[in-house]
Amino acid sequence: MYTSPILKLGKRDGLLARTTHPVVIAGPCSAESEEQMLQTARGLKKLQGVSIFRAGIWKPRTRPGSFQGMGTAALDWLKTVKQETGLRTACEVAGTSHVAEALKHGVDVLIIGAHTTVNPFLVQEIADALKGVDIPVLVKNPVNPDLLLWLGALERLQQCGISDLGAMHRGFSTLDNAPYRNHPKWDHVVELKNTHPDLPVYCDASHIAGRRSLLRPVSQRAIDLGYDGLMLEAHHNPATALSDAGQQLMPQELDMLLQSLNYKSIDPEAARLGVEMEELRKQIEHLDDELLDLLSRRSKVSARMGNIPRHSITEAPQVVHWDLVLDSLLLQASNAGVNKDFVQTVFQEVRKHYAQTYLYQA
Ligand code: PEP
Ligand code: MN
Repeated sequence: MYTSPILKLGKRDGLLARTTHPVVIAGPCSAESEEQMLQTARGLKKLQGVSIFRAGIWKPRTRPGSFQGMGTAALDWLKTVKQETGLRTACEVAGTSHVAEALKHGVDVLIIGAHTTVNPFLVQEIADALKGVDIPVLVKNPVNPDLLLWLGALERLQQCGISDLGAMHRGFSTLDNAPYRNHPKWDHVVELKNTHPDLPVYCDASHIAGRRSLLRPVSQRAIDLGYDGLMLEAHHNPATALSDAGQQLMPQELDMLLQSLNYKSIDPEAARLGVEMEELRKQIEHLDDELLDLLSRRSKVSARMGNIPRHSITEAPQVVHWDLVLDSLLLQASNAGVNKDFVQTVFQEVRKHYAQTYLYQA
């Protein structure tokens, strides 16, 4: 789908690469208060596998008036979480002032959000602000399913000296995302992994799923595909969350989820073939829809033919004999590599059906 890589992206011996188990990043969608951060972090600290605590400090919200995050003040709470629990910390940065504040407060991992990855100007500014600071950076996919835009953002950061770089898959906005919040389009990430085997890849299962019931299957698929890490939103009391309440888990629920995942079944090749099969099924579904649409359009034309009384046609129409029409169709079929017997059967049936239904002379 896209051209060969300009640069080798990411590395296998950094903080972001998996070792035996996937790295788990967890924490609230938004930092809301010091109490909320600490209560959540204390719960997460007890879980095996969670090593990085995330929290949204500045929130990109669709509409003004929604909760926009607590801003810089919340970076102090992130620092307290780190001091008290020993967990590493991560937050999204969407501009150079965010970068400066996050670095000043000792954040360990920076995340470029989906709404920032879409903007190469902004990504370049962030990359320039990070020159000389080799901090781990995770780049989320852009909102739209554009692999080159994602790759471009990763390359901009790599060119500015970020060596511990990772891609974070959070799903894409498509015409029909159901049942997800953001459609995973797993085949895009399979392609990215194939062309950039050293690039750690994370799955933001929370923003793909958008609801708790889908977190497990999405996380399992990511593990089966050999992802390096998972990101899951967690809140000590999700019902009161100021953003993304429907997709966050309590620390003990996250524990159950992580324990229920099958980490042994990793056969990335089988999982890759599963993704390919899913993609091909989708293509067949679209083609069948198109076939049906064509049949319906043909019905309408046949019905109009049936409505013209034969005796009222004064001039003999230029009727091409059916055998000649069929010969030409069969020739087209063999040029297109489609089985001729099959084509003959299909067209004979189609013609017979419409002639009988609409009572015109075939
Ligand atoms: C988030 O991680 O809280 C977030 C806003 O994600 P995204 O950039 O994927 O929308
Ligand atoms: Mn969120």
